[in-house]
This record gives sequence, C-alpha cells and structure tokens, in this order.
Amino acid sequence: MGHSWMNALRTSEEYEKGVEEFIEFARRNVATKNGMYYCPCVNCLNGIRRDIADIRDHLICDGINLRYTTWIWHGEEVTPSASHENEVEVDDDGMERMIHDVEVESFAQPHEYDSVRSDAETPLFPG
Ligand SMILES: [Zn+2]
Repeated sequence: MGHSWMNALRTSEEYEKGVEEFIEFARRNVATKNGMYYCPCVNCLNGIRRDIADIRDHLICDGINLRYTTWIWHGEEVTPSASHENEVEVDDDGMERMIHDVEVESFAQPHEYDSVRSDAETPLFPG
C-alpha cells in the first residue's frame, strides 16, 4: 500500500484517508487481544500502545513519524534488503564476540608492554 499520504498536509483529505487506511492495515495485520496498537505518531514513536481512536487523534493532530516508512509494528513485511540486514545482524553478534575477545587480549598487552618499557627506561634516569 502507498505511504505517500504521510507527507501530505495533515488537513488534507489525502492524509485523513491515509490515516484510515493505516488503521485498517493494522487491524488486518496485527493480532491484538485488547484492540491496542503501537501509535506511530511523532510523540509516541511506536513506543506506546493506544486504541484506534487515540491513534487516529494523534496522527491527525500531531502527525505520523515520517521515518516510519516500513510499518513493521503494524504488520508490514520488511523488504528483502531489510530482512537481509537481519541475517547480517546474526553475523555481527559473532563478530562482536570476536572483537570482544581481541579487546580483552589487547587490553592485557599494553599493560605488560608498559611495565617492560618502564623497566628498560629506568636506568636512563640516574638518581
Ligand atoms: Zn501517539
């Protein structure tokens, strides 16, 4: 479904229709027990669950978060490139662990190196 209404004026018919379409979309695609959905408005940023009436108010009075281009919290499938990112994320975890291990090693090394060097330098300062 099109998301172009998100950039339309909030007072426009296009935006209002888009809000209704968005709500319909969420209703069709999100399984919810209590009729509460994440509110994608600029203030809630999908961090707070609200009922349909509140979400409609927020989207019309405050506006939808324009960065919310893929409605992942409302049942929209992520695009192939985005799901590829998820695969990479798994790899990142392995990579992070490797980096962590390396950091632990290199953390120990400079310390050792410092003491070796200061021992070697000591004779250079007489008295
Ligand atoms: Zn809101």
